[in-house]
Amino acid sequence: MTDTATAPRTALNVSDEIAIEISGLNKWFGSFHVLRNINLTVYSGERIVICGPSGSGKSTMIRCINALEEHQEGIIEVDGTRLTNDLKNIDKVRSEVGMCFQHFNLFPHLTILENCTLAPIWVRKTPKKEAVETAMHYLEKVKIPDQASKYPGQLSGGQQQRVAIARSLCMKPRVMLFDEPTSALDPEMIKEVLDTMIELAEEGMTMLCVTHEMGFARQVANRVIFMDQGQIVEQNEPEAFFNNPQSERTKLFLSQIL
Ligand code: ADP
Ligand code: MG
Repeated sequence: MTDTATAPRTALNVSDEIAIEISGLNKWFGSFHVLRNINLTVYSGERIVICGPSGSGKSTMIRCINALEEHQEGIIEVDGTRLTNDLKNIDKVRSEVGMCFQHFNLFPHLTILENCTLAPIWVRKTPKKEAVETAMHYLEKVKIPDQASKYPGQLSGGQQQRVAIARSLCMKPRVMLFDEPTSALDPEMIKEVLDTMIELAEEGMTMLCVTHEMGFARQVANRVIFMDQGQIVEQNEPEAFFNNPQSERTKLFLSQIL
């Protein structure tokens, strides 16, 4: 097994600054030990792809990072703030971490623009005019400013997912977490969402992406992590990960998806 705490980090824009530090993370659902001694240091500017079989704990790990799930053992720190039961810390971490899910979780009764300005206005206390300007900036970035006054139900899945990304960016997060953002999309819409994510990566956003889009991993990731049965089994730079996987479990997984 590779040493999971000290991972390879090559590539562009990766700094020595730690964005996320996870050590000795253990989590149980009742008696089920879902995360087993996870150690992971994410440096600013890293683009990490997390893959692994269904049920291996990928979503649970991602969700622990912004306290959507509680953990029982170990330390999680985001930008130096430790996640404890202290609500102040949870709020602080959540304000630095943007999250994008498989299902877009937009508010159906709010327009696209309102979806993007709600949290900045109510959580960040941003003046409305500024929140609208920021929202329009990010809607332009994801290439749908013309949809701003529509409701989520009037948009395609790919457009909705790009709104979800724009909405997260409006909070100026330090890190973006993606949990299978393209797996609910029709094939023709996957590319437009991946293109948005690629652009974000190129701008230096620190990203953790659970995805089975291995083309994306090869193109964008500086590190690919393979999880199985609640553990980080293996991690490497994409080229080495795909061309020369070390563990039998990784080989089996790759043979099934590639
Ligand atoms: P992945 O995202 O890799 O498919 P998950 O993190 O969603 O895996 O789930 C890991 C394991 O934890 C699975 O066996 C799943 O059934 C279980 N699990 C997930 N959420 C809960 C929950 N709220 N209560 C009990 N078990 C859960
Ligand atoms: Mg999952």
